Amino acid sequence: MKRRFAFLCDFDGTVSPEDIGAALVERYSRTGGAGKQVLLEGWRSGSLGTRELIEAECASLDVSEAEALDFTRRFRLDPDFAPFARRVLEAGGAVMVLSEGYGLYIRDQLARAGLAHVPWAANYLVFEGRRVTPEFPHASPECPRCGNCKGAHVRRYRDLGFETVMVGDGLSDRCGAGAADRVLARGELLGWCRAENVAADPFESFADVLRWALGLGVAGAGVDPDPAGARGH
Ligand SMILES: [Mg+2]
Repeated sequence: MKRRFAFLCDFDGTVSPEDIGAALVERYSRTGGAGKQVLLEGWRSGSLGTRELIEAECASLDVSEAEALDFTRRFRLDPDFAPFARRVLEAGGAVMVLSEGYGLYIRDQLARAGLAHVPWAANYLVFEGRRVTPEFPHASPECPRCGNCKGAHVRRYRDLGFETVMVGDGLSDRCGAGAADRVLARGELLGWCRAENVAADPFESFADVLRWALGLGVAGAGVDPDPAGARGH
């Protein structure tokens, strides 16, 4: 039977090289740097869940929906993500964006990159004037830690018969990485994988991810535009 791969890709810091969600909070938060650091430290240590972190961050925001969207449009996706996604989808694989960030800019960024057809799951922001409240439509009762548990999405793709690949850069990708058949990591996720003995291959950009995928035979034989690069990984 033909192997089918599902690439579950983190958004902030991965599909988007910059963390758009963090930049949005940084730009429009009324809370000073020290308070935010305490929250982040608590989240890193595990004493604060992702939902609690996001609720605290959103409570500090002072921004309208139009202003927030306008701000996020300064950022761009990794230019190699669109060719990567098209290639995998043409080969019968799956690509999905999984994020603990916000649908506001993920939907917009994917559409602007010509990728409105790529499925995504993220948290939502509800605006009332300049007040912002988060919603967690994908919260899983099985995971108290995550707002949008990537592990649950990975398991769903595996149940559909896919070999699963988690691609990510951060600590919010831990559940996904722990559940996936294979992991491509950079940043804090790569450090966590090494510390926890979770097998992971490093990557820098989606040009690397595509080469890695071609090396697995994801895109099928005989159509490889860069065979030397593919074999090198
Ligand atoms: Mg990330």
